[in-house]
Amino acid sequence: MKIVHKISELKDILKDKKALSIGLVPTMGALHQGHGSLIKKSVEDNDFTIVSVFVNPVQFGINEDFDKYPRTLEKDAKLAEELGADIVFAPSVDEMYQDTKELTLVCPPYSAINKLCGKSRPGHFDGVATVVSKLFNISQCTRAYFGQKDAQQLFIIKKMVKDLNLNVEIIPCPIVREKDGLALSSRNSYLGDEARNDALKLSKALNYAKELRKKGVNDKQLLCDSALKILEGTNVDYVEIVNPETFEDWKETDKKALMLIAAKIPPTDTRLIDNMEI
Ligand code: AMP
Repeated sequence: MKIVHKISELKDILKDKKALSIGLVPTMGALHQGHGSLIKKSVEDNDFTIVSVFVNPVQFGINEDFDKYPRTLEKDAKLAEELGADIVFAPSVDEMYQDTKELTLVCPPYSAINKLCGKSRPGHFDGVATVVSKLFNISQCTRAYFGQKDAQQLFIIKKMVKDLNLNVEIIPCPIVREKDGLALSSRNSYLGDEARNDALKLSKALNYAKELRKKGVNDKQLLCDSALKILEGTNVDYVEIVNPETFEDWKETDKKALMLIAAKIPPTDTRLIDNMEI
């Protein structure tokens, strides 16, 4: 397996791969088994798999964790190789962007970004849609793999592909969790033991809401309030329920309900997200 840092080198390698199916797994690195599940699926589905590792400055706000985001390229490459990836593409910021201030952006519609993480992180999804478009173009991928862990991101990327007629098939992959329910995340490395206990409250709240729905509770406020009670001790950014097909506010007449939570875990200030169909 090769680690490639330059766009031109990747394009050279891909020149004679035009007849092959290419799977792309876009990541920010610090890979764990959640990323691993996407890589495995891509290796199963495609002739050639590219894992991109790029901490994208354009999707981080000024007071967010761009500088301290974990960077573990050697370890990442080892895992990607073990799982059968063909290339790790790890460009520098300068290689991806000549000038981030004078950049043509891909901007998802307001209706998709004025809620949930888009509301709390202004500009975040412009940065995501822009870098993902660039990675699609650079890799010429047939399929691209995204985790349901970032449900709003997945919704926005699917919409972008449809709206812009991009020639990529988007493959959603289920959330990988620790045995106790904590969704794997590169940001879990910021947590100590005590904060990890509080981090568990996200999946506990989602599971509890799911139980309530099973028992026939359909009152949105009650479902959200029950989740909020379990989340006490964390700094909740949002608890929302949406229709997973449209990402519009969930109505009791909607069959499917997706509950999403974002919360900061004190004293670490680590912002975690999780979601579950309830
Ligand atoms: P990130 O490196 O956090 O940008 O994530 C890269 C990709 O891995 C995204 O599509 C995420 O949704 C996905 N991912 C991250 N954590 C998990 C997880 N626990 N289970 C499944 N997919 C995940």
